[in-house]
Amino acid sequence: MKNSKKLFLAALLLAAFSVTAQRRPAASAAIKNPIAEAIVKEGNDNSQLEKLATELMDGIGPRLVGTPEMKQAGDWAIATYNKWGIAAKTEKWGEWQGWQRGVSHIDMTFPRAKSLEGMQLAWSPGTNGKTVEAEVMILPYLEDSLSFAKWLPASKGKIILISMSQPTGRPDYNWEEFGTKESIEKMKKDREVLTASWNKRISNSGYNARTLPAALEKAGAVGVVTCNWSRGFGVNKIFGAYTKNVPSVDISVEDYGLLYRLAEAGIKPKMALKIDSKMLPPTDAFNIVGELKGVEKPNEYVMLSAHFDSWDGGTGATDNGTGTIVMMEAMRILKKIYPNPKRTILVGHWGSEEQGLNGSRGFVEDHPEVVENLQALFNQDNGTGRVVNINGQGFLHSYEYISRWLTAVPSDIRQQIETNFPGTPGTGGSDFASFVAAGAPGFSLSSNSWLYGSYTWHTNRDTYDKIVFDDVRNNAILTAILVYMACEDPEKTSREKIKLPINSRTGQPGTWPEPRKATRKGGME
Ligand SMILES: [Zn+2]
Repeated sequence: MKNSKKLFLAALLLAAFSVTAQRRPAASAAIKNPIAEAIVKEGNDNSQLEKLATELMDGIGPRLVGTPEMKQAGDWAIATYNKWGIAAKTEKWGEWQGWQRGVSHIDMTFPRAKSLEGMQLAWSPGTNGKTVEAEVMILPYLEDSLSFAKWLPASKGKIILISMSQPTGRPDYNWEEFGTKESIEKMKKDREVLTASWNKRISNSGYNARTLPAALEKAGAVGVVTCNWSRGFGVNKIFGAYTKNVPSVDISVEDYGLLYRLAEAGIKPKMALKIDSKMLPPTDAFNIVGELKGVEKPNEYVMLSAHFDSWDGGTGATDNGTGTIVMMEAMRILKKIYPNPKRTILVGHWGSEEQGLNGSRGFVEDHPEVVENLQALFNQDNGTGRVVNINGQGFLHSYEYISRWLTAVPSDIRQQIETNFPGTPGTGGSDFASFVAAGAPGFSLSSNSWLYGSYTWHTNRDTYDKIVFDDVRNNAILTAILVYMACEDPEKTSREKIKLPINSRTGQPGTWPEPRKATRKGGME
């Protein structure tokens, strides 16, 4: 990591700040701080994380924007905060198409009966109480869009497979453990060739992955099947449907391969679909905002931040259930240990991050008074792991104040963290970027991976059992201490930006990311 500086040096240099430090601390030990110690004790001895996770992930489930579960989760968060004596409210920033996932049956009925491992995509139309049974057909390879248009009527009454069949259902790490050098190379080569050829099959049709499903349903296909395998055992990514009338389902790599091979062999497999999802009227799109009012500088803000919505293949446990419960637990601890903060503490639980940071962009647009007077914001949104990286986001003096705040963090938590100062401004990825774009000091508390990208991020396996509570507990303690220190800091944080390096592609000086508008009406055409 470039420009990485060891934090204990900073601790040493800036020890003078600590309100309670009596003497120069040992280089690696946290500065003695009774509030920080009480935060650690409360976080460890009275953790509410498991309870919060059960209620949110298991009891309510995934939190796709526009669904009744998102609304239910919002009500639950407010009720939970109120129970802890914390003021919290819903802030509407837009409207989204309403939709509710229902029970689904996805089966193979010929050449033999087999229940398939699959699920409807988000916003997929249902089958109106009926079971749709039809022959399964592979999207054909055709030379150009003209021949594809000629073929299209043949999709009438059929269920169409529109993803490539994977040459292996084993993740690469499994090959790397057991394969030979030659067999691994061959598998990767085969996969590359197949992928390129499949992409050509799609582009030759004159459509793309977004427009093809609609063309098929228009031609009379009765279902569209994909396999968005996430290159791990048992994992598929579950995103939104592009059909408006017929169901879109995603099927596991194993069952998709089965159907594909049978169809390729001319055996004409059949599938039966019964999908009970339903479209609902447009609903409010909202954030949940909680507050502990500052006593000395009520018009300066320190924010906790994590998106509240999720995709709905799993229960959004690590994206972003863990970020959510970290912020809730940190708020609970702060209310108990530090109930009268110097600056106002806000927590933002954002809606519709998954469709483009919409909730946080909306908040930035709607609350210039907070953005203007933001001391710092801490966002967490890349899984269940221990925080291992903090980047200064291109704020020239971030090193000084973040290092100062980290001095109060117990060394066993702090020593895990690599820092990158002054870093570069994040352009997206999660909600801190909405604040950075507005020139406000927003930071990402970045987690250890736990194979987040393949195994849980937007997958059907993003569930409670993947939460590593020991790490999440550390993150809640870390967040609470950083927020406390940012509140108490005698200085207002500097927003001075670094001069961005020359962009090697354009030859021009790099520019700070621009604020972007929230999509305030979603899913309604
Ligand atoms: Zn996320």
